[in-house]
Amino acid sequence: MGALRPWEEPMEPFRIIGNLYFAGTVPASVHAVDTGDGLIVFDVGYQSQLHLVVDSLYRLGLDPRNIKYVLITHGHIDHLGGAAALRKMTGAKIAIGKPDAKYADGTLDLSFAKELGLEYNESFTPDILLNDGDVIALGNTRVRAVATPGHTRGAMTYVFNVTDGEDVYTAALHGGQGMNTLSAEYLLKNSLPLSLRDDFLKAMDRLEKEKVDVFLGNHVQHNRTLEKFEKLKNGDRLAFVDPDEWAQNARKAKLSLFKLIEKEKRTSEG
Ligand SMILES: [Zn+2]
Repeated sequence: MGALRPWEEPMEPFRIIGNLYFAGTVPASVHAVDTGDGLIVFDVGYQSQLHLVVDSLYRLGLDPRNIKYVLITHGHIDHLGGAAALRKMTGAKIAIGKPDAKYADGTLDLSFAKELGLEYNESFTPDILLNDGDVIALGNTRVRAVATPGHTRGAMTYVFNVTDGEDVYTAALHGGQGMNTLSAEYLLKNSLPLSLRDDFLKAMDRLEKEKVDVFLGNHVQHNRTLEKFEKLKNGDRLAFVDPDEWAQNARKAKLSLFKLIEKEKRTSEG
């Protein structure tokens, strides 16, 4: 996170594959699916960068006024900051994992807005509170919400079909895998249970079993967006298709947490 310099942080928008697009910025990924009956947008990024996202959609030939749903991965400001503004602009419905609704309406001050020196003026009441297994369907697209608590309590992973001519791929956007909110220090400071770490491990076990062709992250470094975009530009049409990467990433996420816990043990013993 970071990122209060929108003039330094635009990214070239592009089509990932078929009807799936990247419309995010350097610090926060935004994805869009053209369902044939309106757009579904996944995460919105910071409010201060919303104009970049809107511009990216137009440049992709997608009309932001056709956004029907905004699906938020988790309640941190870098993913939902611009959601209320985008809803005003488009009338889209905002969906978020039920436990993270409190991040959105400001009753639980854990959005990281304060830490970034932002006023919490983006707060809003979500339209749809998602539970594990809920489905959002629009046009030719069916999005399944998979509860993956840990990074936040209500982090939602979204699994959905992507259509590319005759071919159909399964894409999945990981709900949140940053270790910053899983350290003992952070959890204790915010009166959150250490058991969120167990929840995270269980969630990653579940994700590992999902069969996914296109792994999407909510930050570009998670799924090596830039590297794949380079390949795509060089003619590799399937640069984002990799049936192994999703499960590998789930294992990597578990390993990161194990390492963090080991490090904490060593620090407390030393
Ligand atoms: Zn986060």
